[in-house]
Amino acid sequence: MNRREFLETVAAAAVLPSFARQAAGANEWGSPVFDVHFHMRPQPAGNVAHLDGAGVTKANLLTRGAALEQVKAIDATAPGRFTWFNSFDVTKPDAVQALTQAVRDGAQGFGEMKFHVAADGPELRRAYALAADLRVPILVHFQEVDHFEGEGAWSTGYAKTFESILKAYPKTTFIGHADAFWANVSAGYHNEAAYPTGPIKRGGVTDKWLGDYSNLFGDLSANSGNNAMSRDPEFTTDFLKRHRDKLFFGSDCSCIDGHGGGVSQAGNPAAARLAGKCVARETLTVLKRSAADDVFQKIVWRNVHTLLRIPA
Ligand SMILES: [Zn+2]
Ligand SMILES: [Zn+2]
Repeated sequence: MNRREFLETVAAAAVLPSFARQAAGANEWGSPVFDVHFHMRPQPAGNVAHLDGAGVTKANLLTRGAALEQVKAIDATAPGRFTWFNSFDVTKPDAVQALTQAVRDGAQGFGEMKFHVAADGPELRRAYALAADLRVPILVHFQEVDHFEGEGAWSTGYAKTFESILKAYPKTTFIGHADAFWANVSAGYHNEAAYPTGPIKRGGVTDKWLGDYSNLFGDLSANSGNNAMSRDPEFTTDFLKRHRDKLFFGSDCSCIDGHGGGVSQAGNPAAARLAGKCVARETLTVLKRSAADDVFQKIVWRNVHTLLRIPA
């Protein structure tokens, strides 16, 4: 055991008082950070490079299809820094079987679910029911407006139908994400733009449902989350405070180094405002300046541990 390994072992030891463990996990953000929305990269080192570059402590790998071997390889290079979710094409007949197997293999949730189906359609309903049965959260991408011609929409009908789903599946833990979820923090949104701008009109359905339904949570990742939290500083501070138990920091960043290198928004032309920037850094900066320290720490670290029932 070299000195670094020795120190890591000491830092991880449960016998240490909690303040000492906290200090070991603290970083440039003043709190350890968990990125709940991190798409698994093919090379193990690429995953760690983004975390280290952005000052992120741990991340939740979003995978699709058979992923166990890749997850194991990543875990071996950075033990304890990754959890994982799995998704599978919900239109395929073996989706339930595949998702069930992933949970048996250690996946701690479903996601991201991003398919060209209705948010209240039979394909996603099967996944919602399975998530409740297996007691894992399900992370859903809601988008009504194309980013480029011919893209097509994802989990459609959110603003009109999703309240009925929240009622129909009270035991399912839903994590909302993406354009339609975040555009609807503002009232009066009618799918005019993927990323609406300007002050938030109070009373949007996402804001309301986060307050009304204990089974709905929000993932602040991507340009959608960043944009929504950048429109109206007064609203943002109030929103983060009110929903401090229901929100998770996530990046959905595709930059290579945690500093905006490469392509940070996967070439999404509608998200040009974040071109050349690391989404993780940009969103952590917005959260840091908008939230009190305890609210910030809940959103970037503690809430996800409660969600996944893992020690912080
Ligand atoms: Zn997404
Ligand atoms: Zn990045």
